[in-house]
Amino acid sequence: MIVLKDCRCIATSLGLSPRTGLSPTMGLSPTMGLGSRPRSDLMGGDILIEGNRITRIKPSSEGHMEPPNGARVIDASRHVVLPGLVNAHHHFYQTLTRAIPAVQDAKLFDWLVYLYEIWKGIDEEAVYWSSALAMAELLKTGCTLSTDHHYLYPKGFKDDLPGLQFAAASELGIRFAPTRGSMSRSKKDGGLPPDSVVQDEDRILAECEATIDRYHESAPDAMRKVSLAPCSPFSVSERSMREAAELARRKGVRLHTHLAETADEEEFCVRDSGRRPLALMADCGFLGSDVWYAHGIHFDDAELAELARTKTGVAHCPSSNMRLGSGIARVREMLDLGVPVGLGVDGSASNDGSDMLGEARQAMLLQRVRLGLAKGEPGGLTAREALSIASEGGARLLGYDALGRIEEGALADLALFDVERLEFAGALADPVAALVFCGYDHGADYVIVDGKLVLDSRRLVGADEELIRAKANQASRALLEKAGLTR
Ligand SMILES: [Zn+2]
Repeated sequence: MIVLKDCRCIATSLGLSPRTGLSPTMGLSPTMGLGSRPRSDLMGGDILIEGNRITRIKPSSEGHMEPPNGARVIDASRHVVLPGLVNAHHHFYQTLTRAIPAVQDAKLFDWLVYLYEIWKGIDEEAVYWSSALAMAELLKTGCTLSTDHHYLYPKGFKDDLPGLQFAAASELGIRFAPTRGSMSRSKKDGGLPPDSVVQDEDRILAECEATIDRYHESAPDAMRKVSLAPCSPFSVSERSMREAAELARRKGVRLHTHLAETADEEEFCVRDSGRRPLALMADCGFLGSDVWYAHGIHFDDAELAELARTKTGVAHCPSSNMRLGSGIARVREMLDLGVPVGLGVDGSASNDGSDMLGEARQAMLLQRVRLGLAKGEPGGLTAREALSIASEGGARLLGYDALGRIEEGALADLALFDVERLEFAGALADPVAALVFCGYDHGADYVIVDGKLVLDSRRLVGADEELIRAKANQASRALLEKAGLTR
């Protein structure tokens, strides 16, 4: 049992409102004094966690809870309590190839072609420690549920690759819903990756099914889920895409891929298949409420309407999109149309960090760059919308309905941020929004996943951070050496 005592502020629901409902009421409000803060923030209260659920929330105005015997009591009087953040797109293995000099300024296709020559050397150590590193960073910035998109299966890789990732997730205590990625189309078939990291279609199908059977849990509070994720239209054959969709539907798991990330991809699809990316994927069965795409930058109006009609989701990855100069996703329009939207930090070779709270800030600011701010209503995104897609939005994409809200009966996945720090001074008229508008340190103090404390006073409970750092650096060096890139 855990009691979060005297929470300074509880963001009970960040729910996405229709655009018309978001206009801030400027001036004084009789309840708050500063107007724009929604009443769903509970200013002062205790939270009781029993098992993996929030069982009671008591506003401070009604007095404090008597902690049950044996409960861990956390003084949250300096903290904003957020629903756990959810990362809807990543490539953990890329943490070992961050900030590689030769591709710091490259766009997607050039960046991929260069990095594949390094990535083809990944081995068991690289997968385990890169996964531990990415998940550690995510947890430390308030993320409680993450996916991963691992699509490289080098010949000679002996261990059960998803098993290594699930082992790291169990140690750290994060809720983990990875995809089983794949590539079937190498350079010799007109794709981008080298031959040594792709698999043939029959093997992909068999291994996808085996991974689902071995690891996928379908319960609403599952700590492990598996989705299927052929990498992209330029690295996967159409047959493999179709087979993934059929298998996913037969098994009741979700589908994911990269789509509409760059203009190059659009040109490739039109030239190669005679169809725009979304039309190609629609033909492969990739439309529906069980599908989410990474990026979704270059959709036209009709395509956005089709996503909304079919409830096909998009994981927005603002830092990566800026880093690679790919463009700006039309997130404002997606939300207004009802397209399900989540947030992803994307792989660490194109971000190059797994800072989940920082990503929410990027999402808010980037829409404002694109759309400006209309008088009286947000042209871009509000801070709460950014936090909402970073929590509840992502949870829906990954198939979790009981996450993303702080209410009695909800799953206890929570992140606590100390707002009584220097960088939040002067911003406490709205402590929830302050987390997005302010700060240079996005670290949470406490993170709770499935009712268990996994980050305690800024330290990981289940893993040794120094060991992860050292092992990840070692694996990174080994990878660069294999590619002949170290002196
Ligand atoms: Zn990606």
